[in-house]
Amino acid sequence: SEMRNERTKRTKTVCTYCAVGCSFEVWTKERHILKIEPTHGPANGISTCIKGKFAWGHINADDRLTKPLLRDGDGFREIEWDEALDIIEHTFKRIKNEHGPDALAFIASSKCTNEESFVMQKLARAVIGTNNVDNCARYCQNPATMGLQRTVGYGGDSGSIADIEKAGLVLIVGANPAENHPVLCTRIKRSHKHRGQRLIVADLRKHEMAERADIFFRPNPSTDAVWMCAVSKYIIDSGLAKMDFVNKWVNHFDEFKKSLEPFTMEYAEKITGVPAATLITVAHEIAAADGTCILFAMGVTQHCGGSDTATALSNLLLVTGNYMRPGAGAYPLRGHNNVQGASDFGSMPNVFSGYQKVDDPDIRAKFEADWGVTLPTTTGLDNHEMIRAIQAGSVKSLYIKGEDTITSDANAGDVGDALSVCEFLIVQDINFSETCRYADLVLPAVPSLEKEGTFTSTERRIQRIYKAIEPLGDAKADWEIIQLVANRMGGNWNYKHPSEIMDEVARLTPLFAGVSYTRLEGFDSLQWPVHADGTDSPLLFTEGFPFPDGKAKFHPVEYIPPSEASSKEFDLHLNNGRLLEHFEQGSMTYRTPGIKEITPNTWVEVSSELAAERGISTGRHVQLTSPYGIVRVQVIVTDRVQGKQLYMPLNSVEEPVNRLTSSFTDRATHTPAYKETAVRMSVLPEQ
Ligand code: SF4
Repeated sequence: SEMRNERTKRTKTVCTYCAVGCSFEVWTKERHILKIEPTHGPANGISTCIKGKFAWGHINADDRLTKPLLRDGDGFREIEWDEALDIIEHTFKRIKNEHGPDALAFIASSKCTNEESFVMQKLARAVIGTNNVDNCARYCQNPATMGLQRTVGYGGDSGSIADIEKAGLVLIVGANPAENHPVLCTRIKRSHKHRGQRLIVADLRKHEMAERADIFFRPNPSTDAVWMCAVSKYIIDSGLAKMDFVNKWVNHFDEFKKSLEPFTMEYAEKITGVPAATLITVAHEIAAADGTCILFAMGVTQHCGGSDTATALSNLLLVTGNYMRPGAGAYPLRGHNNVQGASDFGSMPNVFSGYQKVDDPDIRAKFEADWGVTLPTTTGLDNHEMIRAIQAGSVKSLYIKGEDTITSDANAGDVGDALSVCEFLIVQDINFSETCRYADLVLPAVPSLEKEGTFTSTERRIQRIYKAIEPLGDAKADWEIIQLVANRMGGNWNYKHPSEIMDEVARLTPLFAGVSYTRLEGFDSLQWPVHADGTDSPLLFTEGFPFPDGKAKFHPVEYIPPSEASSKEFDLHLNNGRLLEHFEQGSMTYRTPGIKEITPNTWVEVSSELAAERGISTGRHVQLTSPYGIVRVQVIVTDRVQGKQLYMPLNSVEEPVNRLTSSFTDRATHTPAYKETAVRMSVLPEQ
């Protein structure tokens, strides 16, 4: 009827799951989602995957937080916002007076909006007076950003998602886009199948794209940098390097060439286990291709040499002239919907928005003048260091927004110990997460459909989300909560809408100079850098690289062996990753009933060789033991994994893989080496 139609509302939004950045209209009637309708999303056209289409159960989940919760013995009791803010004000002031501003620390969320990342770092820096602010890119993408910043200046996809179709060759390293970036991956499947695009996959695990690839090779764990350096060396030595490009656009070639001397094909074969003949074929494929895109993710970054591998990857692209043109370059496939934006907008311990350094006096002076405060001068603590500092007693308060630290961070037992001793832990989230169990105060925030703001996808595309549904109960948008806290602490903020936060960002940040909500109306979007006149940058590098002389830099790397090689006691290598149906540990996707039924439990993938050796078959339960913890899971015997390598999906709260992972980290960024876990497996009695 007409009445019914009148109450149906259509609102433009952006998917809250992965960083492909699919946008669509959501049809709602009051709190009910009737339909997700992709019409003309710049990244996705008329497509979505299962998560974007169906995984919205978290909106109306039973455990949505609707009121602030205060710890009361072993449980919690509901309180009003005023009381919650009184407690925060009182405790923050006391800790700051007794121990100084650096006794407080803040973790922003890569699920929240850009504006919320910006106000979180502003709260830490301008109101509290500390640079102790970070976001969960520390758990995943910082090594990718580091590798690219070292070599080409900007840490972001070199071109648009659509540009990948223009590449002659797509090389996927340590990424599983068929499950983790489904809508982006459809383009690669199409151009590979129908337009003769070459596809090479390097991975431990034979996932769907490995099965489709023209060449698939499996380097030993944590050895990608070695084959990348060997291929670069072979290309230079064989006269296949694009020296016109190198001479015009890249510094430090001689130093780079010298650094490659150890990386002969014989050495690479020995370390990586990949036949030299395969690597030589790969070198010729890259050299001959009309544009190579390298897509990579956690299989590259989550190692103690993660930043160096990302650097080696970028060196390889530079020496083959694969930047500054569509259909070429580096594509660090970001995970969360806004992992790119959370860092871009300044929730990092060393930079303000747009990667402007906190220890640069001119930059600081600009922010001080605009904000009317004196800012801290030294780099703050990252997530990893915050946990250590809590254990050491120097950080007393941690404010976590939209991040399930206890399931996401590595070595869960150790992190749990730290959160238990934290004097004042605030957790702000939409559902009662595992981390909430450790909190002193829980603050109810709202999911994407209940607020306004912007997200930045993996292709640096900034897109608006609009409010489709009113906040549930007393829950509030994260930016509003942060403003309330800031004002209790004397911040004197007065943002009436996130657009005003964006105007401030644009004023203070050259990378976003021309960004405004009017330029982002509806399905309009902008890819950074956005110049003051509003022109944006689908292609990241057009007139050189963002260094003073406009040239990129070769950055030599060494091979860093894994932190935890298999030993006699822990004889198996455990890898991990996401599933198509779930997002990370499932804190949102498990709240959609249909999706929960498809994958109720987690499992471990075991190779047929190992299964035969241990006399086990699919369905058997095993116990995996690492130096840090134990999980019990069911076995799936599969040729997706080989030899003594195991694979576990991340989708479990009951038996989380992070009970097994260590506290070792990437040397340059402190990203945990999740992919370097040694375990032993014992078979449990039949049930
Ligand atoms: Fe959402 Fe990513 Fe799926 Fe698109 S591909 S619908 S952004 S989860």
